[in-house]
Amino acid sequence: MSTSLLYHGFGVRGYEYVGTLYVEGQIWLSIEQPREKLCCPVCDSLEVTRRGGDWRTFRTLPVGRKRVTLSLVVARVGCAACEVVRQVAIPFADPRRTYTKSFGRYALELSRHMTIQDVAEHLGVG
Ligand SMILES: [Zn+2]
Repeated sequence: MSTSLLYHGFGVRGYEYVGTLYVEGQIWLSIEQPREKLCCPVCDSLEVTRRGGDWRTFRTLPVGRKRVTLSLVVARVGCAACEVVRQVAIPFADPRRTYTKSFGRYALELSRHMTIQDVAEHLGVG
């Protein structure tokens, strides 16, 4: 797995691939955002100081029939310009979602060809 495949295969840009775990038939991809890519979610300033972070997981596109989950620590930063302390923005997922934008598009596209129940069963979601 490469950082390039993260972008072209899963639509995840600006993150680096760290590792893969295979757990109970599922694939867990560990990724991280490089320090130099961290910026303020309010004013986009790069003058930020890392203030810890929160571990999060996001469901993303399957590989064949295997469920794929992205796991990462989403950094919290303090901004020198606007003085807020907040979690950085996550460009590959909409706010408060636990799946990636590409996963959402995939589910929507599938729903054009099969019932919602079929899509939910295929993707293993509620
Ligand atoms: Zn700021």
